[in-house]
Amino acid sequence: MNVRQCPRTARFYETTERGLQCLLCPRGCVIPFDRTGVCGARRNAAGRLIAESYGQISSLALDPIEKKPLRHFYPGGMILSIGSYGCNLRCPFCQNYSISMGQPPVEFIPPEKIVRQAEELIPQGNIGVAFTYNEPFIAWEFMYDTAKLAHERGLVNVIVTNGYVSPEPLMELLPFIDAMNIDVKGFSDEFYAELGGTLAPVMATVEAAARHCHVELTTLILPDSASGPRNAYASVIEPLARWVAGIDEEIPLHLTRFYPRWQMSSTPPTDMDVIRALGRTAEKYLRHVHY
Ligand code: SF4
Repeated sequence: MNVRQCPRTARFYETTERGLQCLLCPRGCVIPFDRTGVCGARRNAAGRLIAESYGQISSLALDPIEKKPLRHFYPGGMILSIGSYGCNLRCPFCQNYSISMGQPPVEFIPPEKIVRQAEELIPQGNIGVAFTYNEPFIAWEFMYDTAKLAHERGLVNVIVTNGYVSPEPLMELLPFIDAMNIDVKGFSDEFYAELGGTLAPVMATVEAAARHCHVELTTLILPDSASGPRNAYASVIEPLARWVAGIDEEIPLHLTRFYPRWQMSSTPPTDMDVIRALGRTAEKYLRHVHY
């Protein structure tokens, strides 16, 4: 595996006959010359993999920590939340598709400036930096540099992620991460196949993260009427909650409501009675279920 020092040269790739193979996430894209991987954030530039979204900020806001959502980590606190562009999954129900699938306007903001801004916001209740809005792991190098600097300045770091990342980059970053909200979008390979992924790497991320930092989980409940992937069933939520309880029954689970978006913009929002029933199912196993 190549390991380069330049911050905008990507880590976690190797050279193959067909192109550069990115090893950052389980997709393992083989990227031909002058093309990007599925996430749109990592480019083969003349035989060198570039972390193209490094510091390319599309969204920046001081958010309540509960909005991440994190309900059991510095409750009442605020956090400087930043996002870029791109994603390594293809959820037809994406609630943030304009930045995860599109090419939003961006501004280059280096880690030093992000952290300085985070410090300046401490009087307004800021506790640190949250990497969120689009999938942050695809900008691993930027997240690593920023999180390391933020820790040195006494700030906390939060990641909001789909959990679809390879073990090596995850483990290297975790010492600088204080809390994660990880999506567990469904609980079968059949479900994840509709998003372009598989379940096992997400489960591995949750299990590893729970050993190192505060973890909360989110499952977006997709209505029964959806013509795409569906998960609004006790037969999905019950084994999911049982598995989480096997890690730690104190891990909070957020069951959130689907609203019509992107390729599922004609599907109605999930019935709240369905979400409440699934919440009661999850509460048989977990101490903190939020819905
Ligand atoms: S991080 Fe992006 S380029 Fe790398 S394997 Fe995943 S989707 Fe492909």
